[in-house]
Amino acid sequence: MITVIKKGLVITMDDKRNEKIEKLDVVIENDTIIALEENYLGNYDKLIDATNKVIMPGLINCHTHLGMSIFRCTNDSLSLMDWLNKKIWPIENNMTDEDIYYTTLLSCIEMIKTGTTTSADHYFGKNTIDAVKNTKIREIFTRCLMDSDGNGDERINEFINLYEENKDKSPLITFSVSPHSLYTCSKDYLDKIQKLALKYNLPIHMHFSENLDEIETIKNTYNLKPAYVLDKLNLFENKLVLAHGVFIDDEEIELLKDKDISIVHNPISNLNLGCGFAPISKYIKNNINVCIGTDGQGSGNSLNMFEHIRYVDMLQKALFKDPTVINSYDVLKMATINGAKAFNLDDKIGSIEVGKKADMIILNLNNIEIYPVNDIISQIVHGISFNNVETTIINGDILMENQQLLLDIDENDLKNKIKKIVERLNI
Ligand SMILES: [Zn+2]
Repeated sequence: MITVIKKGLVITMDDKRNEKIEKLDVVIENDTIIALEENYLGNYDKLIDATNKVIMPGLINCHTHLGMSIFRCTNDSLSLMDWLNKKIWPIENNMTDEDIYYTTLLSCIEMIKTGTTTSADHYFGKNTIDAVKNTKIREIFTRCLMDSDGNGDERINEFINLYEENKDKSPLITFSVSPHSLYTCSKDYLDKIQKLALKYNLPIHMHFSENLDEIETIKNTYNLKPAYVLDKLNLFENKLVLAHGVFIDDEEIELLKDKDISIVHNPISNLNLGCGFAPISKYIKNNINVCIGTDGQGSGNSLNMFEHIRYVDMLQKALFKDPTVINSYDVLKMATINGAKAFNLDDKIGSIEVGKKADMIILNLNNIEIYPVNDIISQIVHGISFNNVETTIINGDILMENQQLLLDIDENDLKNKIKKIVERLNI
């Protein structure tokens, strides 16, 4: 099957081409990009005319909780700890696997419609993976691990079963090992997790340095700053993906900067929960890989990455009172290729290059509120909406074309199911 996308303005995010935007035909054979040419004259089975439209890699959401779609906008005026303890965790205890299947399905559709082609989950539920498979989205799957309630080993076994059963079943699904955080996992439990991740050669994806209460708890347990706890627990032997990283100080940056770590910046979630936000331009200056996450809809409001990336550079410019600390292209890198690097997927996705998997989106930037588009990259970062995402392609499969979802899923039926779940759980 050959698909040709003709005459689009291509932002490749390929280091070799840098920020250059070129008018190119993108040729896809099955799941792989086989050519980027000025005028492709070969055969094809499917043609998409992208004249005056932008083609770019699909966005990579490096930290989310797919099952949390039903908690959208539930954290108004609640601190992180109050929100988790009083609202989220008691309700999650009553969620069935079927509930989590449908809440995950909703999230996957939200991502396809808003231009995200890969996400890194941090949730649970044994049939959530079916929701991911049914929507054909690319996913870094996991089972969130914690032992603060005494059920830690059960969760590890659940993860091992999930991994062993699914590891070779789909090219779209890879895994991370995901302790919830340093403050909800004991030292011995983190030791087990560290060894498990090494054994399977998987990255560790965890919440890290999100708010000040958490740092105080960690200090009381270890008498160390969080980055030094990672060192003490041998976690630098692993590839680490640290979500949030709001309060990493200069001493910790010195320790982290040569390690195989990535920081996932979640600006809206951090702002909503009154945590502050991460000084990521400082991390970037120290060669730390920074990528972007939405967090779950409960704290992040939506999985629409375009909403979240809009905040990234403005927050840094305001924080450092310097408009030169970061630019729009840096932000697009964070939302694409840097996310792929974080999870060892940069040989497959994150940029539009010959030989890589065909994960890309087509944007139509012709609507009145962003007209005229003087600088495409700046406009994408500062002011487009999901209405601009016209077509979403994952692994060569066209999942949405001209804003029509091409999956065998009845959206109204799904909404009704979600409504019933929300009513039953009294959210
Ligand atoms: Zn989170």
